[in-house]
Amino acid sequence: MDHETAVSQAREIADRILAPAARQNDKDARFSSEAVAALGSAGLLGMMLPTEVGGSALGPRTLAAIIATLAEADASAAMVYLMHMCATATIAAARPGAAVVQTLKDIAAGQHLTTLAFSEAGSRSHFWAPVSRAIRSGTNVRITAKKSWVTSAGHAQSYVVSALAPEGKSPTDSTLYLFAAGAPGLSVAGPWDGLGMRANASAPMILEDAEVGSSLQLTDDGAGFKAMLEIVLPLFNLGTSAVALGLCRAAVAGTTAHLKSARFEHLGQTLGESLPTLRAQLATMQIDTDGLAARVDDLVGHLERPRDTTMLRVLECKASAGDVAIGVTSAAMRVCGGAAFSKHLAIERLFRDAHAGAVMAPTGDVLREFIGKAVLGIPLF
Ligand SMILES: Cc1cc2nc3c(=O)[nH]c(=O)nc-3n(C[C@H](O)[C@H](O)[C@H](O)COP(=O)(O)OP(=O)(O)OC[C@H]3O[C@@H](n4cnc5c(N)ncnc54)[C@H](O)[C@@H]3O)c2cc1C
Repeated sequence: MDHETAVSQAREIADRILAPAARQNDKDARFSSEAVAALGSAGLLGMMLPTEVGGSALGPRTLAAIIATLAEADASAAMVYLMHMCATATIAAARPGAAVVQTLKDIAAGQHLTTLAFSEAGSRSHFWAPVSRAIRSGTNVRITAKKSWVTSAGHAQSYVVSALAPEGKSPTDSTLYLFAAGAPGLSVAGPWDGLGMRANASAPMILEDAEVGSSLQLTDDGAGFKAMLEIVLPLFNLGTSAVALGLCRAAVAGTTAHLKSARFEHLGQTLGESLPTLRAQLATMQIDTDGLAARVDDLVGHLERPRDTTMLRVLECKASAGDVAIGVTSAAMRVCGGAAFSKHLAIERLFRDAHAGAVMAPTGDVLREFIGKAVLGIPLF
């Protein structure tokens, strides 16, 4: 599969499966298994994996385009896909034992959804510092942990779990493990009823003395932090920025449609024809959306050809994208007025979904803290 095919498959899934169901799935906080099945059948779940395990070896450019396309129709489904792709990249970078290779083949065959279980109740948004610790048990380890938010909780076939390494000294000496769904001691700890991203099952999970074998240890002891920074962070920040872009595009499209269809009958004009203030706000939304698209494209270029400024761009892109999405969807709420507020339009869902971007770690505040330190030459951690 090439880039164009992958993106057109994503468009087809967005139009046929995501868009028609997004409103009801959001209302009911219902996870779309149909979306995951369609992404799997289209070969998109493993599209970044190497061809040896059945993937298409596509890169960040395709990832960003697919995610923005999905997010235009349903940001929750786009987030499910993004967390899967981040977890998949982590598994693909692991030592290639038989269990790991089989998981990658299942992903490429479209039969396996995975996700990240990093955030813990104890360290909150500081996902790089798990407070749980792996305890040695022969050649296995046992983990007890409160994972505070896990996208696709209860729906994924596996979970990439972080914990402090058995002999870890510093708060960032973590190790990553792969837990199969249904592993004894691993369970979903409650429902997901968020303000936004309501259809992505980001519920808490617990591990109670859950045991995992050495064949499913994904990183060396203490090397989890390195994998989080080098593998997960660039993809996650690119992907959340692409989700923000999809939300902005949907907000511009929804606002445009409203301004063209809603009328002042007594004036014989549409809202768009009648009010220059609304046209000016729509223009600002368009400018900001195109600016974000350029920023996402710039990050793609940096990930394709890494250079000195790449990590700074990784941090900047998500920080900016979260704010742009909140700004553009807030403007859409205002321009569409009562029609948006009374939930007649999809705008209010976009507005709620957009607020997740700044909250998801690394949060917008933390990114600014990192960027400021990086500019000043102060160590980030
Ligand atoms: C929809 C959704 C899906 C998610 N899915 C996953 C998932 O699949 N896997 C996963 O591991 N996690 C997931 N998370 C968790 C997420 O990544 C964060 O860990 C979580 O949202 C942070 O929660 P908190 O507000 O309790 O953090 P807190 O740490 O309590 O943050 C509170 C506030 O303090 C600010 N703050 C914290 N530290 C600093 C600092 N050093 N400098 C400046 N400001 C700071 C934050 O920006 C925030 O405004 C998800 C979250 C959401 C909303």
